[in-house]
Amino acid sequence: MEGKEEAKPHSDDFLRQDMVRQGLISSDDSNRSLALEFGLPLYADLSSHKISKELLKKIPYSFAKKNCIFPVKEEEGEIYIAISDPLHLEALEELRHMLNTEVKAVYSPKDSILSAINDLYNREHGAASEMIANLKDGSDDGRGDGEQEVYDLLDDAGAQAPIIKLLNLILTEAIQQGASDIHFEPFEDRLRVRYRIDGVLQNRHSPAQEFQLQLMTRVKVMAKLDIAEHRLPQDGRIKLKMGRREIDFRVSTVPVAGGERVVMRILDKGNVILGLDKIGLLPTVYEEFKKLIAMPEGIILVTGPTGSGKTTTLYSAICEMYNEETNIMTIEDPVEYNLQGIAQIGVQPKIKLTFATGLRHILRQDPDIIMIGEIRDTETAEISIQASLTGHLVLSTLHTNDAPSAVTRMVDMNIEPYLLSSTLVGVLAQRLVRHICPECKISYTPTDKELQSIGLEREHLLNNTLTMGKGCSACFNSGYKGRHGIYELMIVNNALKKQIVKSPDAIELRRIALETGMISLLTHGSHLVKQGITTVQEVLRVTRGLDIAG
Ligand SMILES: [Zn+2]
Repeated sequence: MEGKEEAKPHSDDFLRQDMVRQGLISSDDSNRSLALEFGLPLYADLSSHKISKELLKKIPYSFAKKNCIFPVKEEEGEIYIAISDPLHLEALEELRHMLNTEVKAVYSPKDSILSAINDLYNREHGAASEMIANLKDGSDDGRGDGEQEVYDLLDDAGAQAPIIKLLNLILTEAIQQGASDIHFEPFEDRLRVRYRIDGVLQNRHSPAQEFQLQLMTRVKVMAKLDIAEHRLPQDGRIKLKMGRREIDFRVSTVPVAGGERVVMRILDKGNVILGLDKIGLLPTVYEEFKKLIAMPEGIILVTGPTGSGKTTTLYSAICEMYNEETNIMTIEDPVEYNLQGIAQIGVQPKIKLTFATGLRHILRQDPDIIMIGEIRDTETAEISIQASLTGHLVLSTLHTNDAPSAVTRMVDMNIEPYLLSSTLVGVLAQRLVRHICPECKISYTPTDKELQSIGLEREHLLNNTLTMGKGCSACFNSGYKGRHGIYELMIVNNALKKQIVKSPDAIELRRIALETGMISLLTHGSHLVKQGITTVQEVLRVTRGLDIAG
């Protein structure tokens, strides 16, 4: 065993690399056996260890990431560092100099180290507010380095300037809290920063007004907008990295009294859960919807207001339909997430690539299934009908309140009722309701009026109670955390076909649909209320304007 440290690793190194190359052993396996041979302690799963915040502060994120190392613990003046390759010890040597303490190596698999870096360096709660409190004016013009293509949010080295750091913190915090949008709004003496979380805007920060220009400039630089232009609205995009995640932001600025209003839409691919079985359809509705998307031709519409999860539903349907024998093509405005194996086209009005023109081109590409982001005009509606008449399955969205109104809307767009009755196979209307926060949920006895408002009978309740969130720090006192879809699926059966040709009246269509088994949005919502998943107020908030009878 003697002399192992010097001679053996080097001669074995070639053999080891060769075996890894030939696929005889994985590099993790080989590193692990090597680590054991060196007598390094094994930390197979770093997430199960408690890592102190103080320790994390000593080693910069950029250093940890670059060298794939992670600080595990500090004991008797020695810092234990997890490494994944026992042969590359330069980083430890550098750390010894940097920290001026003794550093010891422990072994962890590479994946475990990388996810520890991502997870633990991310958790800097309240850092943005802390920073706003400490900000001093005149520190920076916010321009920073405008050349960089993809910014790494966690990389402090490139963000020395306070304004850059503050914006990074705000973006990081918004992503961690699951926000879909960040709003920056000028007020008389303050800038208001709000996050949209689970569909509802929540106040977060109010930095002093003097930072407004710097922050806005920084946002514009990142989004490659004209920083000198304050009078015209501008649109741009930012690509950001947070650890291993890539996050896209759509940036929109609009001049208002007192400055510019900036809204950043967060398109976080890591945050979308796709899959028809995961979007919260009732089991019977799930089965029925699956039958619809298995049809060879016809039109399926998904309806609801902006932000009701329509795109997620369409993408989930497409993922379900995807196989190697099917050509699926989409035209979207914009392409929100790239789906593997699917040809997605983004609308570009500037070069006259609209839904309608894109759709004509798609039809020459021999598609089986076509997804159209939205049917907004007669031309797109007409081509969709044509496409389904010529043997394609067409999926799209419409902005209507409920499922039956989709028929009326299409007729309003000059589609002949008889064409619609022969092509439309189903309409899925949807909303997203917020989940009651699991940390602060309590039971209460509802009033008769409350139960009536959602069509629930007292005798059907469990212990005569319903559930609500009373608000806590985990949910920023909103009482809610996360969201759940509610749906109504109208399958266009013979009775409905007849009615569409006779008169495409939404009220009459709704009556027939309910009679023939459609479960309404409100009924699905009331199921969730009864199960303690959401509240009466929440279901009423998202179904406002719908007839109570169904
Ligand atoms: Zn809570």
